[in-house]
Amino acid sequence: MEASLGIQMDEPMAFSPQRDQVQADGSLKKHEQNFKLPGVKKDIEKLYEAVPQLGNLFKIKDKIGEGTFSSVYLATAQLQVGPEEKIALKHLIPTSHPIRIAAELQCLTVAGGQDNVMGVKYCFRKNDHVVIAMPYLEHESFLDILNSLSFQEVREYMFNLFKALKRIHQFGIVHRDVKPSNFLYNRRLKKYALVDFGLAQGTHDTKIELLKFVQSEAQQESYSQNKSHVITGNKISLSGPAAPKESDQQPTVKTSVKRPYTNAQSQIKQGKDGKLMKQSKTVDVLSRKLATKKKAISTKVMNSGVMRKTASSCPASLTCDCYATDKVCSICLSRRQQVAPRAGTPGFRAPEVLTKCPNQTTAIDMWSAGVIFLSLLSGRYPFYKASDDLTALAQIMTIRGSRETIQAAKTFGKSILCSKEVPAQDLRRLCEKLRGIDSNTPQLTSDTQGPASHDPAFSEKTDHKASHLIQTPQAQHSGDSLYKGDSGGRAGSWNTGTADLEGWGEVPDEAYDLLDKLLDLNPASRITAEAALSHPFFKDMSL
Ligand code: ADP
Ligand code: MG
Ligand code: ZN
Repeated sequence: MEASLGIQMDEPMAFSPQRDQVQADGSLKKHEQNFKLPGVKKDIEKLYEAVPQLGNLFKIKDKIGEGTFSSVYLATAQLQVGPEEKIALKHLIPTSHPIRIAAELQCLTVAGGQDNVMGVKYCFRKNDHVVIAMPYLEHESFLDILNSLSFQEVREYMFNLFKALKRIHQFGIVHRDVKPSNFLYNRRLKKYALVDFGLAQGTHDTKIELLKFVQSEAQQESYSQNKSHVITGNKISLSGPAAPKESDQQPTVKTSVKRPYTNAQSQIKQGKDGKLMKQSKTVDVLSRKLATKKKAISTKVMNSGVMRKTASSCPASLTCDCYATDKVCSICLSRRQQVAPRAGTPGFRAPEVLTKCPNQTTAIDMWSAGVIFLSLLSGRYPFYKASDDLTALAQIMTIRGSRETIQAAKTFGKSILCSKEVPAQDLRRLCEKLRGIDSNTPQLTSDTQGPASHDPAFSEKTDHKASHLIQTPQAQHSGDSLYKGDSGGRAGSWNTGTADLEGWGEVPDEAYDLLDKLLDLNPASRITAEAALSHPFFKDMSL
């Protein structure tokens, strides 16, 4: 398997080409009919130029994914005789750390190719450009199908997600970015694939050799050169898997560099006096801004030791050009990274990640799976929408309870201060209300105006929603609800008729029991992927 790390070579390299046939036979029509945007055409040309050997093998058809750390293209393989083979080409940003790239590749080659884990076919490198060629799996947009999924499909979806997680966890891989866009789902073919090991880390006994290096790199801040913390006047912009935060009244977080948090954009301010907050082993949600808009509630973060390091590693006068942009400037590329690994997308992060617990395990992926399940059961995606970790933590508290969260955090050595007590919610009631299938909520008809499934159950952005679902003290005082539950908050196509037909009228208790075990605030007792597969919720399903 060492040989499969073909990143040193300019020649294509086959990784057990027969092994991965996760391919969807879904048609290419959508892509072929689309007129390519001029930008996409240009990108494709540039890719051919950057990695010329691709031209001999593939016809690149379209760009299908564009993130901060990669662009993914749909291509067809021209080599084969017979039907064209569809390939996904993932072009990693050239600034990615070679070890990071190699580790991503090793996850795919060693653990991938079965049990719903994406595999790899080839890898190409030319200079600092690396392209990973994978079997293409045509897939749905989670949001598009969320409210048309039958209850049985949801069961299958979760079952197959756990199958993938069990597989990677057996290899000691913590994915760290489990979310719908990284779990490809072909509804028609009932095919699934966990993708994107760009943030993965290893457990202490990981079988993925290179993840050992990735992990130690992440935890030895002085070794890394490519994560950033910038102090710009009164603001600190942080990025890197361990970006700590100190905040005053209105913390927001900015990330810009390598794969710190997918999709996260935030900024961190210093205290009013321009000084960093003092260190303590306390996460202080006391004055946390819960609902954005106005200064409803704000939260302070106090994290152990981390901030001091940030301060010392960042000359206060140093500013850069990439602040508040998606770019990475050379100053930032030379910065150090920090201690506790922090990655992923805020809304999917487990409490121990949000509080920067340094000892993170495969349990964090199970939490993320729980958040996906929560979306599937409630019909809301994203469920939590938070631009920074403390907002996300506050949102978790309003579902799982503030006391419970504080209690759990103690078990992993974090103390959280919270000014208001919020009770834990009953998960069934919560999901049913959000779906609009409880008796107290008026049914939504197809032409009802109002928030749809894409409105998060939690949001920072909107402030006009009713908060009848959960009356948090914050919501009452601020008039700006953290909790965005409202009667119209699911897709318009939903109605009781389909609810019954699709099995939603009689969601068994097992579903909520499993959800409860996934969203266990304590990572030590949180259900594992293996245990989840044998949960009664899946009683008539087999691996
Ligand atoms: P990033 O690290 O930029 O998030 P991903 O590996 O998650 O990159 O890929 C980004 C997107 O590209 C995915 O969300 C998916 O839509 C698409 N994609 C990635 N791999 C494949 C694949 N093998 N088949 C089909 N689509 C893929
Ligand atoms: Mg991704
Ligand atoms: Zn910069």
